[in-house]
Amino acid sequence: MIGDENESPVSEESLLMIPGPSDVSPEVLEALGGPVETHYGNEWAKYYNEVTTRAKRLLGVLGDLFIYPGSGHLGLDAVIGSLFEPGNAVITVENGFFGDRLAELARAHELRVISVAAPWGEAADPDTVERTMADHPEASGVLVVHGETSTGVLNPVRDIAFRAQRRGLRVVVDAVSSAGIAPLQVDEWGIDACVTASQKGLGTPPGLVLVAVGDGGWDVIDKRSSTIRGWSANLAVWRRYRREFAEFQPYFVTMPVNVVRALGASLQAIEAEGLDRRLARHLATSRDFRLRLNEIGIEVIAPAACALPAVTAFRLPDRLNAGDVRDALSERHGILVSTGLGPWRDRVIRIGHMGVNARPDRVERVMRALSDVLRLERNRP
Ligand SMILES: *Cc1c(COP(=O)(O)O)cnc(C)c1O
Repeated sequence: MIGDENESPVSEESLLMIPGPSDVSPEVLEALGGPVETHYGNEWAKYYNEVTTRAKRLLGVLGDLFIYPGSGHLGLDAVIGSLFEPGNAVITVENGFFGDRLAELARAHELRVISVAAPWGEAADPDTVERTMADHPEASGVLVVHGETSTGVLNPVRDIAFRAQRRGLRVVVDAVSSAGIAPLQVDEWGIDACVTASQKGLGTPPGLVLVAVGDGGWDVIDKRSSTIRGWSANLAVWRRYRREFAEFQPYFVTMPVNVVRALGASLQAIEAEGLDRRLARHLATSRDFRLRLNEIGIEVIAPAACALPAVTAFRLPDRLNAGDVRDALSERHGILVSTGLGPWRDRVIRIGHMGVNARPDRVERVMRALSDVLRLERNRP
């Protein structure tokens, strides 16, 4: 019916703008769509090792970096279970859903958790974290999320890692939503183990986890008094296979070769764009969203100084329901965004703007769609 405001205006291609996974480039899809190959052999291993080298360059890693099948959580399990022993005390920085998750993982590994909590939507305060280090000399490590995807906040990991290193604590970082999008230099910042995954800032479909382990990480692994529990998520096993079979199959699993090819294509494109330009592009997109939201009377939750350039989260005005807004954006405009997590589920919208979606035309399209949906939702009887 012409003129019916409930008629869907969808005509453009749909956009996947949740806080990861995200749309990927045509070149990455093309690499993904190649023939299935063996996951071993000299030629394949050479390619895999090249992809590893590219990832190390991107993250500022000189030591070890493993690329394994699995998601970010698997890497965190491997790191926490390998660097710490049951009964160890660790400080967990909790200012969002994924910070809470780190504490949950630590407890699952029978670690004693010392929480440093900050309100959701604020960045962690390095002074507070350091005070907790001073109050708990028994702590052997700090676990912190870099990009808190649930709130759109970037935590000051560099500062926290520096202070932890000075006190001899091991530093574990969840960089699943920040690597390739926000500045992150694993070695230089003194991070002992860092985890990211293929499907967010690295512009690749889901399926791979990347785990960097520095000298400090290996040092504690080598000095453990107990053996690491389990086998598949065990960094000592990962290292053994890398050392023994580097030229042929530097891991023990069946590698999803197509996803590795896709990651290789994406890392190559990231290098061609230049990391600085890529980071600037994400920052500009994040600023654009903030400005445009402000123009329609909406405040972004994260303060500008600590905004994660991958995700913009905001509370809906007029007590509109986030699930309804999300559904209308999808049905009317073909744009997929997310609601908040946990306590923020009904009132918060999160827009992911990573990789190919960190562009001015995407901001334009999302803002036009959002204005349309907010108008409709407000006028709903
Ligand atoms: C997405 C995300 C995860 C979860 O990663 P999976 O790959 O789904 O396991 C963990 N931490 C952060 C910060 C994330 O954004």
